[in-house]
Amino acid sequence: MLHINGNFQKLPGSYLFAETARRTKEYGIAHPEREIIRLGIGDVTQPLVPAVIAAMHRAVDEMGQRETFRGYGPDYGYDFLVNAIRANEYASRGIDLDYDEVFISDGAKSDVGNIQELFAPDALIAVTDPVYPVYVDSNAMAGRTGDWDGSSWSRLVYLPCNAENGFEPPLPRGPVDVIYLCYPNNPTGTVLNRRQLQRFVNWAKEHGAIIIYDAAYRAYVTTPDIPLSIYEIPGAREVAIECCSFSKTAGFTGTRCAWTVVPHEVCGLNDKGEKVPLNGLWKRRMSTKFNGVSYPVQRAAAAVYSPEGQAQIRTVIAGYMENARIIREGLRGMGWDVYGGKDAPYIWLKLPDGIDSWTFFDRLLHECQVVGTPGVGFGPSGEGYFRLTAFNTKELTQRAVERISKWRL
Ligand code: PLP
Repeated sequence: MLHINGNFQKLPGSYLFAETARRTKEYGIAHPEREIIRLGIGDVTQPLVPAVIAAMHRAVDEMGQRETFRGYGPDYGYDFLVNAIRANEYASRGIDLDYDEVFISDGAKSDVGNIQELFAPDALIAVTDPVYPVYVDSNAMAGRTGDWDGSSWSRLVYLPCNAENGFEPPLPRGPVDVIYLCYPNNPTGTVLNRRQLQRFVNWAKEHGAIIIYDAAYRAYVTTPDIPLSIYEIPGAREVAIECCSFSKTAGFTGTRCAWTVVPHEVCGLNDKGEKVPLNGLWKRRMSTKFNGVSYPVQRAAAAVYSPEGQAQIRTVIAGYMENARIIREGLRGMGWDVYGGKDAPYIWLKLPDGIDSWTFFDRLLHECQVVGTPGVGFGPSGEGYFRLTAFNTKELTQRAVERISKWRL
C-alpha cells in the first residue's frame, strides 16, 4: 500500500483560526443578544472596484465570441498584465525587470509555498517570528523543519521580532539557505526601511542565501521612503525572489491573481557545485504544473492600473487605513503599546505583563465582544501580543475601540 508523506502528520494542525472561530461561535450561541465585532479578519471586506468589474465583464463577453475566445493562456501570464506590472510596479520606481522575470499566478500563498520545490530537501530555512504560517507549514510538509515540540520546529531558524528589538529581525547567527521576509509584515504590521533591508541583502550575498520577499501588503505603505519592493535595494537582484498579489491591493482574495519575480541573477548550486539560475527552474515548474490564471481575471487585474482603477483602489485602501488609524490612535491614547497599523492593515498590541494571548482573546471576546487573533498563533515570539485588523467597517471599528476604552482589563 502507498506510504504517505509522513511530514503531514508532524503538522500541529491549523489550530489558530479554527480555534478562534470555535470560541467565537460558542460565545455567540450563548449570548445571541450581544453584537460581536470581528477585528480578527485577515481578508478584505470591500467589493471589487468598478473599473475591475467592467474589465472582467468585457473579457467574459470576449470569451463568448468565436473571434475573441481564448483557450490556454501563456504559461507565465498574458503580455498585457506582465507589462502593466513591469511598468507600474517597477519601472515607475526605477526598477527595470525583464519580461521573462515576472510570472503571473493565482496567489502569493501558492507561490511562497511552491517556490520551495526549487530548493534541496535539506535546505535550511529561516523565518521571522511571529510569521505568516504558510512559510513554515509548507516547508514542514516538505520535511525541512525537523520536529514540532508543541511550540516550535527543531530545524527551523527563528528570527525573533519583538518590541525590544523594534521588530527588526536579527540576522541569522549561522548559515541558512533561505530567509523568508514579509514586509509590510503580517502579523505585526511593521515595515523595514532601506538600511534594515540592505543588511539582509548584504548578508544573503555574503552567505550564499536567498531571500523570499513577500510584499503582499505593499499597497498599504504610507511612510515616505519605505521600499515597496526589495529590488529598490542594491544587490537584491542577485539574491531575492519577490512575491506580490492583487489580493490585498485590489480585493482579489476571492478572484485570485498575483505575481512572482525571479531575476535572472538569482542562483542556487547543483550537485556538481555549479551555479544554476532559479529563473529557468521556475519557468520549468510553472509550465509543467500550472496552466495560468483565467483571461477575465488577468484583464481585471490589468484594469487596476488604469487611472480609474488606481483612484478607486486607493480610496478603498484609504478606508482600511482609516480603520487602522482609529484602532492605533484609539488604543495608544488609552495607554496600550501599539505597533503597526501605519503601513499595513494590521495592528499588533503588546499585552500587559502576565497575560497570555489566549487569555486576552477570551477576555476581549467575553467582556467587549471584540474578536482578534492571539499572537502566539503566529509563532513563539507572538506570545504576549495580539493582532487586530483594519478589515471591517469604520462604524464597527469605532464601536470596538469605544468598547475597549470603557473596559478594565
Ligand atoms: N502573504 C501574506 C503575508 C498574507 O498575509 C497573505 C494572505 O493573508 C498572502 C500572502 C496570501 O496572498 P494571496 O491571496 O495572493 O494568496
